Amino acid sequence: MTDTIFSKIIRREIPADIVYENDDVLAFRDLNPQAPVHVLFVPKEPLATLNGATQADAPLLGKLLLAVAEYAKREGFAEQGYRAVINCNEDGGQTVFHLHVHLLAGRRMTWPPG
Ligand code: AMP
Repeated sequence: MTDTIFSKIIRREIPADIVYENDDVLAFRDLNPQAPVHVLFVPKEPLATLNGATQADAPLLGKLLLAVAEYAKREGFAEQGYRAVINCNEDGGQTVFHLHVHLLAGRRMTWPPG
């Protein structure tokens, strides 16, 4: 896959407000937040879209979601609630082609999404 802005953030080539990191996952605040808390969780090993995931990526996908829940608990809004979203390709609204989970919290979410 081609290099993205998220790979540059992972390599610390461009700045980001990093709020969480473990061996496999980095998380930083979205530049254009859609909620009081809007954090992007990205695998350090790049994968362009969810469509590209294989069985071999199952542990990584699990680690991504577990990182979201761990962060929500750590920050104290897990019980109140939050939303975790993966956008895929054009109709999903994906604009950066390095798989990521949006964590949105701090306000009541609506359903269905726009
Ligand atoms: P998506 O549309 O699901 O691909 O989400 C990409 C997200 O990345 C958008 O919410 C953007 O606001 C966000 N974004 C783009 N560039 C940066 C950046 N340099 N730092 C933090 N967030 C970014």
